[in-house]
Amino acid sequence: FDALAAFDPDIAGVVVDELDRLRGGLQLIASENFTSPAVLAALGSTLSNKYAEGYPGRRYYGGCEVVDRAEEIGIARGKELFGAEHVNLQPHSGASANLAAYGAFLKPGDTLLGMALPHGGHLTHGTKVSFSGKWFDAVQYGVRPDTEHIDYDQVRDLAREHRPKLIVCGGSAIPRLIDFAAFREIADEVGAILMVDAAHFIGLVAGKAIPSPVPYADVVTFTTHKVLRGPRGGAIVCKAEHAKAIDKAAFPMMQGGPLMHAVAAKAVNLKECLQPEYRTYARQVIANAQALSDGLAAEGLRPVAGGTDTHLALLDLQATGVTGADAEQRCDAAGIVLNKNAIPFDPQPASIASGIRVGSPAVTTQGMAEDDMKAIASLIGTALRDADGSRTAEVAAGVRELVGAHPAYPAPRSSSPPQ
Ligand code: PLP
Repeated sequence: FDALAAFDPDIAGVVVDELDRLRGGLQLIASENFTSPAVLAALGSTLSNKYAEGYPGRRYYGGCEVVDRAEEIGIARGKELFGAEHVNLQPHSGASANLAAYGAFLKPGDTLLGMALPHGGHLTHGTKVSFSGKWFDAVQYGVRPDTEHIDYDQVRDLAREHRPKLIVCGGSAIPRLIDFAAFREIADEVGAILMVDAAHFIGLVAGKAIPSPVPYADVVTFTTHKVLRGPRGGAIVCKAEHAKAIDKAAFPMMQGGPLMHAVAAKAVNLKECLQPEYRTYARQVIANAQALSDGLAAEGLRPVAGGTDTHLALLDLQATGVTGADAEQRCDAAGIVLNKNAIPFDPQPASIASGIRVGSPAVTTQGMAEDDMKAIASLIGTALRDADGSRTAEVAAGVRELVGAHPAYPAPRSSSPPQ
């Protein structure tokens, strides 16, 4: 950091200001977390310099014998952690991992069955603005209107009607557990590949806090930076029979040289996830999300699907008369960072939305527990009722008290922030 500060004070200032922003507010974006200084050290290392197209022992460049070790160690840890037959740590992101998985099994024009974005799916599961909806014939399922749980009857009916080559489950705003066995059964009935996009919840799987999709799925893709708490990136786990196809799709079909500093940082993170403390963390993430969801219900917000089994809650604001966009803005003004989110069957456009999504991964990393979640829910309730902003300072003071008691990156700030 000293070299950065000396050469480029502008960007050094951005790094310091962002650290201050992270420390100064409540980070409730369900897909974010505070990765460790050990992971950051690997990310900011000279491994960034190395070209290593290919895989350990089979590279297209010389001088890869050292970085090979990082990838081999990471793969071994991933296999151990997830009980996986094959692991690929090269995808640059979650979207790249999904692109590679589709590339391994689909050709342009093939049919893919995925969850609709407004019902909790992800852009890459078949929306028209993404490659997944542009290059493939994407059919979309959703949740039941009465329970707001995945409509497995609809999934089966659509699978029988459209005979997709691949079925994908998982998403970005699904508070409840997914029945992987049910998806496996449907996929088997129609001869489809079952892909689980576990980006949001793979950390809970790693911490043994929820059931694993690995025994059920042909392929599991995920991001490494959400609950998992690793570097920003993607990864793929699959059955041995698909290993060759997945590796070829990640490189050379979809990507060039892997980011070896990121691969090494993923290895560090996987070692962290193998420690007993990580299991405690994963359980606390869920307990906190449930406490937050219950607390927000007490403030008059309606938990979609009746609550949460995971790290996130989706709240319907319609009874409060506040839109998702207004809620996001009112909370942001007081240092509570969350996002507006469409709820299933939302009458509002996505840019306004009738809901908010909150997640517990980052505040749990800070050491907060259920009582803190109750306090956060009360602050959010106050912020939502505060149409004229007259109570913003009061809510902001409550936020400062909470983050002061549980600082992110607790080392006192010197000239060197965590990398
Ligand atoms: N899949 C799911 C379920 C996600 O939630 C996300 C990101 O939020 C992605 C894929 C894409 O990950 P990335 O933003 O790293 O491309």
